[in-house]
Amino acid sequence: MLVTPYQNEPIETFSSQAALSDMQAALRAVRASFDKIYPMVIGGKKVMSRETLRSVNPSSPTQVVGSAAKATREDADAALDAAWSAFGSWSRWKQEDRSRVMLKAAQIMRQRKRELEAWLVYEIGKNFIEASAEVAEMIDFTEYYARQALKHVGALSALNAYPGEENESFYIPLGAGLTIAPWNFPMALMTGMTVGAIVVGNTVVAKPAEDTVVSLAHVFDIFEEAGLPPGVVNYLPGVGREVAAYLVEHPRTRFINFTGSLATGKWINQAAAKVGEGQRWIKRVFLELGGKDAILVDETADLDAAAAAAVQSAFGYQGQKCSACSRLVLVDSVYDAVLERVVERTRKLTVQAADQNPDLGPLCNSAQDAKVREYLAIGKNEGALLVGGKRLEADGYFVEPTVFGDIAPRARVAQEEVFGPVLSAIKVRDFSQGLAVVNDTLYGLTGAVFTRDRARIEQARAEFHVGNLYFNRKCTGALAGVQPFGGFNLSGTDTKTGGPDYLLQFLQMKAVAERF
Ligand code: NAD
Repeated sequence: MLVTPYQNEPIETFSSQAALSDMQAALRAVRASFDKIYPMVIGGKKVMSRETLRSVNPSSPTQVVGSAAKATREDADAALDAAWSAFGSWSRWKQEDRSRVMLKAAQIMRQRKRELEAWLVYEIGKNFIEASAEVAEMIDFTEYYARQALKHVGALSALNAYPGEENESFYIPLGAGLTIAPWNFPMALMTGMTVGAIVVGNTVVAKPAEDTVVSLAHVFDIFEEAGLPPGVVNYLPGVGREVAAYLVEHPRTRFINFTGSLATGKWINQAAAKVGEGQRWIKRVFLELGGKDAILVDETADLDAAAAAAVQSAFGYQGQKCSACSRLVLVDSVYDAVLERVVERTRKLTVQAADQNPDLGPLCNSAQDAKVREYLAIGKNEGALLVGGKRLEADGYFVEPTVFGDIAPRARVAQEEVFGPVLSAIKVRDFSQGLAVVNDTLYGLTGAVFTRDRARIEQARAEFHVGNLYFNRKCTGALAGVQPFGGFNLSGTDTKTGGPDYLLQFLQMKAVAERF
């Protein structure tokens, strides 16, 4: 295949008037198509249901962005059947042809970028640059996996010959599986998890988060337009505990590719381990879960850069990223100086409706709103409120970016994932104690260190136990094909999305020996 070399899709900063005008036009166009009802897609057929799932604008929750069919268990059975029927032929497509469909889909996404971003602004409250970063990541996953898949074709060359035999080993796909996505990066994560599985010949039932059923309906339309055959992806909007849980336990589900909370991930891991009636395999389970990510700053660091990175990592998309910085661990001698800068920067952040392109938009839904409010109260008891701390008087789920100081390393706000704009500052004696503190959580997803000391960089490289470690930069924003992403410990099974080995997880190796 003659394709240009892989490059990360540029993220629009909206600093030009032209980009802003395009975005305003896209927002108007999207607003004009609010309130539609989107069907499930099962075996290529659009299927409506008696009940629907309503998706609202978190900046103004009385505004309905759209509704989607609400799948039942019968629909889930039909979707899994459709995925297995499609598997027979899709798994035999030439790899080049499967990759070509994905490359075509990526190109359509590029052409519809502003519109896709606008859906994210209205459905989950992203500001423009966060929306652009997500659509760019979705395009990256689609492109990157399409190209990586071409490397897994044919017999492996790295094996030894054996006298008197012809030996060859090659990869084949697994079958029909389930992809389950969270709401915070609905397009990028659902697309990444799905494309990773299907590009190498599997088929899936895709279950979006309840809050993002509209955004994903538009994404799966693109795959259909790109020429994906019916049944390769079956779009199943529904309630997680009902249809997704049912399919997790289903004896015909071959694999589960999940991104979401630790609580759901633990349940899935256990449920999928049981071998059901008639089941012929051990299910493969991939889990990408939560984080309690830290930035550690020592006395040699560039304190302005550290403060800027902490604020960006803590409050980008309202802190609702698995990679968000929620612990700022500061060596005693620079504690006050860094916090002063962090507080000053935080005070300047704007909180507004997402379509006004503020620094922070709303939290995603009422459950998030309630959870973050609870942690604001907990933080006030566990430390000193330095800035923020309040929910705004508005219909939307707006919370001030909040920084707590004097938080103990084992305090609840220092240990539990808040998933909101709440940053806890922890004072440590020195760098070594700082390393011990950053590692002292159940999680191990991302982390960053600000230091100019080469020996400490090397110490942290070896000892800071996270899947994604950054020096002298923010701890969010991993790029596909550049920083493979996935966590240690209870942050998940370290699938390393956007990495060169990702696709192997959806393949099995067949070793064939013929005696001559
Ligand atoms: P969640 O676990 O509540 O929901 C995730 C998905 O699981 C949804 O589609 C939901 O409908 C479904 N679900 C719920 N119960 C289920 C069940 N019993 N069986 C099967 N599916 C079920 O998570 P969320 O609130 O949507 O997402 C936020 C969480 O996701 C945070 O913890 C965040 O850290 C994590 N996350 C992790 C990564 C990563 O790459 N590690 C990326 C993004 C988000």
